[in-house]
Amino acid sequence: MSVDDRKESISREMAILKERMHQKQYKSTPQRDEIAEWIFRTHEHFTVEKLISSFREQGKKVSQATAYRVIQMMLDLKLIEEHDFGKDYKFYEHTPGHQHHDHIVCIDCGKIIEFSDSGLENLKEKITLKNGFRMKKHHLTIYAECTTCPPEKKILTHKK
Ligand SMILES: [Zn+2]
Ligand SMILES: [Zn+2]
Ligand SMILES: [Zn+2]
Repeated sequence: MSVDDRKESISREMAILKERMHQKQYKSTPQRDEIAEWIFRTHEHFTVEKLISSFREQGKKVSQATAYRVIQMMLDLKLIEEHDFGKDYKFYEHTPGHQHHDHIVCIDCGKIIEFSDSGLENLKEKITLKNGFRMKKHHLTIYAECTTCPPEKKILTHKK
């Protein structure tokens, strides 16, 4: 993806956001827009803390309340997903431009890997049907220890 493609996809994503905000009567503010743009520019899993500190590094102040309000709105508008990766805080990622995928999370260093496997997807479908359900949405997280996990990180997280 070139820089131009990315710029274009962000304006497309912002247009979708504006349209859905309008439908659900959310009010647009310059700060809300700026946070939403940051979220569309961030192609990895992020936390609210990460969002706030990234703005702080640019000399901009975003309160926790504002950050959470934008996140709640974007969840409601189905433009981001929330993940519980077994920490006492949540992770988020934007959905436009990304295929459905599952995750592997290292319980020691916190490394997050995305994967998708059509065999696994079919299996999930099969199991759901076999039990008399129709699958609507699903998400699998595998908690693991990565093989390259540095020992000092293990000590750090365990001490906390
Ligand atoms: Zn992306
Ligand atoms: Zn992901
Ligand atoms: Zn690890």
